[in-house]
Formats: sequence, structure tokens, C-alpha cells
Amino acid sequence: MGRKLKGGFKTRQQKERLKKVSAGLLERRNNVDLDPSVLQLHDHCYSSLDSEQNVPSNVKSWNSGRRIVELGVLAEGLSGSMVHTGIGGRQVNSFLTALNIPPVSNTLLSARQKESGSAIETVAETTIAECLSQEIDITKQKFDSNELTVSVDGAWQKRGSGRSYDSLSGHCSMIGTETGKVLGFSVRSKYCKMCDEATRKGVQAKTHDCRMNWDGSAKAMEQDMVVEMVQSIKSKGSNVGTIIADDDTTTIARLRKSVDPNIKKMSDKNHVKKNIANALYQLKAKHKKLTPKVIKYLINCLNYMLCQNQDNPKGVENGLEATDLTDLMKVYKKQSQKLSKLGSTQGNESFNKSVASKAPKSHFYSGTSSLNVRVAASVAQKNDGQCYLIKVCLILNSKLIFVKEKRSTTTSAYLQVFIQKRLAILRDLQARKRRAISITRKEKIRRIQLRNRRVKRNAVKEMCEGTSYSCQIDLQDHQDIVEIPSAPVPPEVHCNIPNTAKVICFDLETTSLARDSHITQIAAVNGESHWTSYVIPKLPISSQASEVTGLTMRNGRMFHQGKVVESSTISTALDGFLEFLKAAGHNIYLTGHNIKTFDCHILINTLKSVGKTEELKKCVEGFVDTRLLFKINNPDLKSFSQVNLIKTLMNCSYDAHDALEDVIYLQKLLDFTNIRIADPKFSTATFTVQTAYFFS
Ligand SMILES: [Zn+2]
Repeated sequence: MGRKLKGGFKTRQQKERLKKVSAGLLERRNNVDLDPSVLQLHDHCYSSLDSEQNVPSNVKSWNSGRRIVELGVLAEGLSGSMVHTGIGGRQVNSFLTALNIPPVSNTLLSARQKESGSAIETVAETTIAECLSQEIDITKQKFDSNELTVSVDGAWQKRGSGRSYDSLSGHCSMIGTETGKVLGFSVRSKYCKMCDEATRKGVQAKTHDCRMNWDGSAKAMEQDMVVEMVQSIKSKGSNVGTIIADDDTTTIARLRKSVDPNIKKMSDKNHVKKNIANALYQLKAKHKKLTPKVIKYLINCLNYMLCQNQDNPKGVENGLEATDLTDLMKVYKKQSQKLSKLGSTQGNESFNKSVASKAPKSHFYSGTSSLNVRVAASVAQKNDGQCYLIKVCLILNSKLIFVKEKRSTTTSAYLQVFIQKRLAILRDLQARKRRAISITRKEKIRRIQLRNRRVKRNAVKEMCEGTSYSCQIDLQDHQDIVEIPSAPVPPEVHCNIPNTAKVICFDLETTSLARDSHITQIAAVNGESHWTSYVIPKLPISSQASEVTGLTMRNGRMFHQGKVVESSTISTALDGFLEFLKAAGHNIYLTGHNIKTFDCHILINTLKSVGKTEELKKCVEGFVDTRLLFKINNPDLKSFSQVNLIKTLMNCSYDAHDALEDVIYLQKLLDFTNIRIADPKFSTATFTVQTAYFFS
């Protein structure tokens, strides 16, 4: 088969065949009066075709070479749509194979892609020219000035963080604030496949469409591209007065040095917001009251304040003073001038997203002009909507008709453009409708609620699951991997508590909130007598647990609030606990706060692990969860934590999260509220020992 011929066919024979087929096509066009509707009637079924046959030289029938023609036409359409949808040759062929259509050779595709690529770039340039003149007109009308305000933002084709910004290519866009359209774009590439291959072989590279234009580091790309774009706007007879960019780059300094010393800079709204939020989260370490909810609220207030005081630095200063976080706000007060004039690079970020969809970061397009074409396609789409496809198609077809000696019929080209236009307009309308819906008040509220719900649910779940994802977690010895299930599903059995029932309150402190955590303290109280024991856990105590219980381990000894405490092994402690229960007599109901979902599981699992599974069944009749109890008794309360119950019902506070204190106050609470547990209405707050074992 040998050398690849220009035009993408592998053999001369194939090329000859196409010529014959084109001739046949031309003849057919001249002979038959084509009705557009006839075109649609041709079936495109390939399954009836046998293996490829040679076309006898005297046959001029259109059908005999159809497969090749259609592959050629297909390749042409494919090359454009590949760029549009963000896939490459390999994906196209997988797609075709899945549809049982013969794949198209890569050579053919890349040859066609060169044609459609240059068409796409032409369209991008024309839309940029149109949008630039629009932007200039609007700026003149609105501000009576020649100075444009533009936002710039760049992105790399490879994700990076910290020190590893080593992408081989990057792109940058410039968007006008008045029209929201792209006024300029640029691509920097450090690598060219052809050049690289030539250097490796030590030969002179063939002439090719080389797009390698960068030698420096990836980080410096953005500045260089911005300078180039501003200069190109200048060369088109206009001027950039203000630039909106994030605060991370030194772009503006370079611009002032090399293009225009008077160029102004606006900060990006979102970046300023992010910085303030970060500063607030740092304050959180010092001030516990700054919960994420409060921080969110503060930032919202700040947002409204900044929006209301556009172009009014004095107002921003007053607004910042109104908050109590004076020290933090003083820093921003100095920048009130800057804060009253905030721009947004949101347009650039959405453009970057569009580029990422056309040149996904997981695929590599940087080695050829493909990347430039894909960025150009994003520009055209941003400026013109999906209709840019029609313009590309028109350019391609006029080429086909006039340059390539009428390979395609004008009628079919017309039909193709017509169909594509309808589809493109439809897609644009859909996009516009989505956007219109998304900015309504109702939709915004819905989004906020959705996010809040997700954050809340996630926080609860993460608490139960323990640490499951953090840096190098696999290297640490202890991981919480078992989740505490939410309230167990039926079957569950409640108890009928007799009037003679004896209530014994108990509480556990543990190493963490995970279901397989170890006990660090057990406490129980029965009327006047109480019992407690600290337990040496075999797992390390998590820092969160240490913070609430005040329990720490050092050199095998246990400390409570920094003081050594008497502690025993889990086996001894459980013996003591069971002993205490037995001493209380019969008809015992173990009572505790939130025991149904947590303490019971831990207690029973621990009993199982030390081989005392049956002991508890002998001395306990059932369980009562006081959290569920008070939910029935005081349904109007907002919080059912033990601390809050004691605070609101008894009007006193106590040292929460010492197991003994907890149980003593729990019993006081039960005595104080005078709840009769035997009342049948509380039966759903109780559960039998069997149920507890079943769910453990
Ligand atoms: Zn090259």
C-alpha cells in the first residue's frame, strides 16, 4: 500500500476510483432533475453491501462507488463535528463501529480536518471582527470613550496544582464587558508532533502547519498571550483601557511595561470573595462562633453591600465598618477604591469550560493544529452560537463547489446547510431557554436550597463514615470504615414496660463516632448509687473525640483534662458494669440518650468481642432511648440534644460529655419532667434486647 497520497487515500487506485465516482455523480446531476426530497429516500444501509469490489472502468453508475463517496462525505462531516463535540479520530471510529458502520481511516480524517479546521478558524476570526466593532460602538455610545473594558483569563490544557504547572499548551480569551463576546483569543503550545519526530530522527522536518510558538514555562503563557491580544486590539485601531483579571498573576505589570503604562486593572469579584472567605475561615480557628453557616451569611451580606456600592468607595468603607470583624475589614477598607470597582471574569471561565468540552483535558491535542482549531471553534460558538457550524459548512461547500471541481452537488449542499441551520437554531434556542430559566428568582432559590440540603446531608454522612478520603490516609493505621446506619428499618419490637420497671441510665464515651470505635468511659446511675470506669481503648482516640471528652492517652496511661485517671481494661470494666446492673435487681430497663443509633451498638459489639454476649440478656429487659422519648413528650422543641433539653426544660447547664455527669443529669431530667415511662404512648421510644442485638 505504501506511501500516503495527498488527499488522504492510501492507494492510487482508491483515488482513481473516487475520481470515477465523482464523474459519475456529475453525470447523474446533469442528467437527472434532482428533487431534494429524493435525496432523503436513499437508504443508508451498509449491511447489504458485500466486501468491497473493484469498480469496472467502464461503469459510470453512481451506486457502484457509493460506499467510498459516502465515506468521503462522512469524513468531511465528521472532521467538523469531531471538533464541535470534543472527540478525536479514535472516538469517532469507536462510535462508528458501535453503529455497525465501517470506520474511517485516520489519514482521511486528518486530511479533511485540515480543511474544516481552516474554515473554523476563518469563522472565528470573522465573528471576532464583528463583535469587536459592536463592542466599540456600544462603548462609544455608553461612555463616550474609545477605551474598552475587557476581562481576560487563561487556562492550561493539563490540570496542575502547586508546583506542577507543566502543561504543554494553554489558551487565553479576552471578553468585552458590554457585549460579553470574545474579542480575542490566543494559544501557546510548547510541542509539535512533526517537529519532535524530525528532531528525534535527526532530519529536517517536512513543511507542515506548525503551531509551536512557546519556549518558556507554562506559568508565563498567560501574560504573554494577554500582551499579544491587547496589542492586536491596538493594531485594529481601538484601545483597551481597563482589564479585569484575577489577582494571582503579574499580567498587569507586564502590560504596563510593554504596551500601555496607563492601563487600569479591576479585580475579579469571585476571587475577592474567595479571599475574604478564606480569611474568615482562618479566623474560625480562634473564634468558635464563626460556624460555616455564619461565614456564608457574612459573605452574602458583603456581596449585597458591594453590589449596592458600585463606583462608591465611601459607601464600601461605611459598609465594611458595620461589621464587627473590624480587624479583618480594616485590611479591605484600605482597598475600598478597588472594591467599589469589581469586574467579573465569569465569561472567561465559561469560555474555558467550553474549550474544555471541545478539547477535553483527558485527551491530548496539543501536538498539532487540532488544539488551535478547537479553541477557535469555542470562540466561534461563544460569539455566534451553534450557528457558526453553518458558516463553516458554507465555507467548506463553496470550496467544494468551486475549488474541487464540483465534487458535491449544489442542491445537496443547499439541503445539508438548510437542515443543519434548522438544527443549529434549535440548539441555540434550547440554550437560551435554559439560561433564561436559570436566572429567574425561583430557580436561584431552588439552587441555593438544593446546595444547602446537600451540604447538610453530606456533613452528617461524613461524621458517621469517619475519615474516608484525605491525603495519605492509607498510610495511617486506623481508619473508620464502618458507617453507623441511620435509624434501623423494621422489623423492630417495642417493649411493654410494666409499672414496676427500674430505669438505669447509662452512657458511653468512645474513641470516635464510627461504629467500630472503642469505649473510653462507661457510666451508669441507679437512683442514688452511681458507677463509672475509664477504659483503655485499643484504638487511638480521635482528635475530635478528645476535644469533647477531654480524654487523652499518653504512654499507655489515660488522662482526663490533663490529669491521670484510674483506668482498666475493657473486660474488667464490662464486668463492673454488669455487676452494677445485677445489683439493681430485676425488671431493669437500660436508658440513655441517643442510644438506639449509637451507644447500644457499641456496647453490644464490645460485649461480643470480649465473649460476654449473653450476660447482658440475663440482667436487662429492654432499652429506652430518651431522645425519642422527649421527641414524643415535647414535640415542639427545636433541638433534642441532651444539653439543650436540660437547658430548656430545667433551665441549667452542666459539664456535657463526661459520661458520669451525663447520666446523673439525664436521671435528674427524667425525675424533673416526671415522665412515666410505662405510659403506652412512649412505647416507640423503647426497644427489646433482641432488637438491639439484631441490629448490632
Ligand atoms: Zn512543527
